[in-house]
Amino acid sequence: MEISGPWRRAASGAGLLAADGSIAATIFAEMSALAIKTGAINLGQGFPDEDGPAEVLEAAAEAIRAGINQYPPGTGIPQLRNAVAEHQRRFYGLDYNPDREVLITAGATEALAATVLALVEPGDEVVTFEPFYDEYGALIGLAGGRHVPVTLQAPDFAPDLDQLSRAVTDKTKIIIVNNPHNPTGATFDDETLRTIVELANRHDAYIVTDEVYEHLRFETPHTPIASFDGASDRTISISSGGKTFSTTGWKIGWITARPALITAILAVKQFLTYVNGAPFQPAMAVGLALPDSFFTGIAETLKAKRDLLSAGLRSAGFEVFPSRGSYFLVADVSPLGFPDAVEFCRQLPDRAGVVAIPLSAFYTEANRGQARSLVRFAFCKREEVLERAAEQLARLSAR
Ligand SMILES: *Cc1c(COP(=O)(O)O)cnc(C)c1O
Repeated sequence: MEISGPWRRAASGAGLLAADGSIAATIFAEMSALAIKTGAINLGQGFPDEDGPAEVLEAAAEAIRAGINQYPPGTGIPQLRNAVAEHQRRFYGLDYNPDREVLITAGATEALAATVLALVEPGDEVVTFEPFYDEYGALIGLAGGRHVPVTLQAPDFAPDLDQLSRAVTDKTKIIIVNNPHNPTGATFDDETLRTIVELANRHDAYIVTDEVYEHLRFETPHTPIASFDGASDRTISISSGGKTFSTTGWKIGWITARPALITAILAVKQFLTYVNGAPFQPAMAVGLALPDSFFTGIAETLKAKRDLLSAGLRSAGFEVFPSRGSYFLVADVSPLGFPDAVEFCRQLPDRAGVVAIPLSAFYTEANRGQARSLVRFAFCKREEVLERAAEQLARLSAR
């Protein structure tokens, strides 16, 4: 049966609509199924295999026992809104009113959805960097917007600022900036961020940030784009606690923006989930108030994991590109004699007992060729798991 409706635009925007009109399974689903079937080490999906800070977990358990189990307020509990505002002040010197300029959401995922659906009219253009987190493409499609990708090139995956300047026009409604960047591990330098702010001002566009990896940077501290001159009034900053606190299943995210933007986004958000995660909200507030040593500690720990996997991949014969943040790194499989990363990833569980994701999954159809031999690996796993993966990957060069 033909089911008509906007869902097709969501699937198409995420690159999942096949030529015959059917919906392709995502490569993530295919690779996760392969991992289960073969017992391979899953370096495909980005979730940690260890628990986050005990005091945060305990705070959630305590909240459930204390009866915090009914609908929280629509904008989030005051304690968490205060904690988000305080976090923005403490780390970045940004000033947000916790009652009018902070909105708690069902993860960064819902924050992005509510924002795009609230602001994008059919025909509006949305600029993203490419490769991009697949949700962006789906949301732009659902809203009836036009996706204008600016492609990032190895080895640094830094945007070409001329290409970026050409991509942003008076038709641009939003520029989405994911920094640190999934899937490449790139972090954008100040010149790039300043250029984005200038372009947004010149063409009267909003800047929507996705900063879920803000505390997982390995080389330089994070500077939110909202802190640049001319950015704060037109920037919707989005983050969440899933990656920072190793609680990806909790789905507590937040938006900071000026009151009129929060009001517009809340008008949509309240009919998506209304509210979520009552007992997790106070726990996130505990997490955001942890001492600086926690935040520097998670970045140090993850950096060591990045180094471990990078070294393993290099000695197995991969070309490894620098990852400066996030859970991920990109490697080129062509030095191993594989021209095609999709085929490589399909064979990898059998050949080396490891699962990874071809980078082409994060591109628009037209630009997939640019990622032909590139693969994304997640390194947010225990060291012994990464060591075992490295040993097994060494088999590839021994063939
Ligand atoms: C994980 C991730 C998200 C989703 O965050 P949630 O808080 O789990 O909804 C959004 N953007 C990027 C780039 C991510 O990697």
